[in-house]
Amino acid sequence: MAERENERIDPKFQRRAVAVGEAQDAILKRIRPLEAEEVDLLQAFGRRLADEVRTEEPIPHFRRAGMDGYAVRAADIAAAGSSAPARLEVIERIPCGFAPSRPVAEGQAARIMTGAMVPDGADTVVMLEAAEEWTEGERTFVRVRKADARGPHIAAIGEEASAGAALLRRGEAVGPGQSAVLAALGRSRVNVFRKPRVAVLSTGTELLRVDEPLRAGKVRNSNAAMLAAQIRSAGGEPSLAGAVPDDRRQAVRLLDELAASDADLIVTTGGVSVGDYDIMADLFLSGEGTTLFNKVAMRPGSPTSVGIWRDKWLFGLSGNPSACFVGFELFVRPALLAMQAAAPEELRPAVSGYLAEDYAKVNAYPRYIPGQREIRDGQVWVRPAGTDRSSSVLSMTGADCLMIVPPTKTGVRRGELVQAIPLANGLFF
Ligand code: AMP
Ligand code: MG
Repeated sequence: MAERENERIDPKFQRRAVAVGEAQDAILKRIRPLEAEEVDLLQAFGRRLADEVRTEEPIPHFRRAGMDGYAVRAADIAAAGSSAPARLEVIERIPCGFAPSRPVAEGQAARIMTGAMVPDGADTVVMLEAAEEWTEGERTFVRVRKADARGPHIAAIGEEASAGAALLRRGEAVGPGQSAVLAALGRSRVNVFRKPRVAVLSTGTELLRVDEPLRAGKVRNSNAAMLAAQIRSAGGEPSLAGAVPDDRRQAVRLLDELAASDADLIVTTGGVSVGDYDIMADLFLSGEGTTLFNKVAMRPGSPTSVGIWRDKWLFGLSGNPSACFVGFELFVRPALLAMQAAAPEELRPAVSGYLAEDYAKVNAYPRYIPGQREIRDGQVWVRPAGTDRSSSVLSMTGADCLMIVPPTKTGVRRGELVQAIPLANGLFF
């Protein structure tokens, strides 16, 4: 009995688990968007707008022909039929890029091309195929055999957007569509949020550099390359600080260096668990920095820890590749997106899908598994993308979502509806 009282319970075993949503809240409520910077429009792909974008001019800003044909007055062809065609005089030809020289009066038409400016007076464009043109001496005429009920084939001024309309949101990612809008508005320079700078520090005495040959008991550092890609896909700029062995003093020295660097955020991998050499776990418990949480109610990656080191964000992710991947998606990606003012729904995206196979594992915590979506008869089905082991380095390659298996004592059956988080997969940026 006395012996037991003297036994010291390692605080590593007494961490309080917070729910994933609670952990995300704790991070997100402390995140502020970064400063803005101006970049060339063609460099803006994947960046996030630092200001709302409004159009000064209406779109389109002139009445625009929707097809090749003749700009006419609808009233002039209203009564046209095959036996009594309307006969109009062609007063000019209007190619794209020119303003008409005069209005179309009663009995007149202007030959016009798609995208050209419709002359005043005309209120419909008759398609080329529905008209026959001929000349009489110097003069040109056109015959129209019937009114076009589908007209008027003219885009009105402001049809797409009126002057002053807000077209793009602050925090919106610049993709192909946004690039087109910015170009149409004459924005050759674009105000975007600066990329969050993320330092990545790997911990583990077993880690080899990518260019080192394998040795007994050692593994190559795959997390750093994976995280660099994840960081880029979230709009961040990674800088890889290499690896430190499981030695607290060395880790602290490097963390201090990184905290003094221009990094906004430090991500570490490995050493957050309860093992003998889990130095990051000790660090988060040491009170040296501020710890927001050091245990999350989830699998894998429950020891994931987040805090502030000196004045920098410190994300301590698990070393297991799949757990590391999940930890990034759940905590680091939302933080990076929030630094670029992404919309709240982008920070916690969710879809649902039917489980495509029985899931037998029993869990006290929700499980986040790299998954694959499949559409069958218009419905989404999800299944694990790989082996569903947190130690797997292969299971992320085919993943397009993280499927969330709720806590269960009995497993989850095929056909049950589960939530999933779609993955950006790095293809966008
Ligand atoms: P840890 O989180 O330190 O307990 O490590 C858990 C497992 O992940 C161990 O098998 C480690 O060898 C492995 N691991 C840790 N860091 C990395 C890394 N950077 N790249 C690949 N595997 C790693
Ligand atoms: Mg380790």
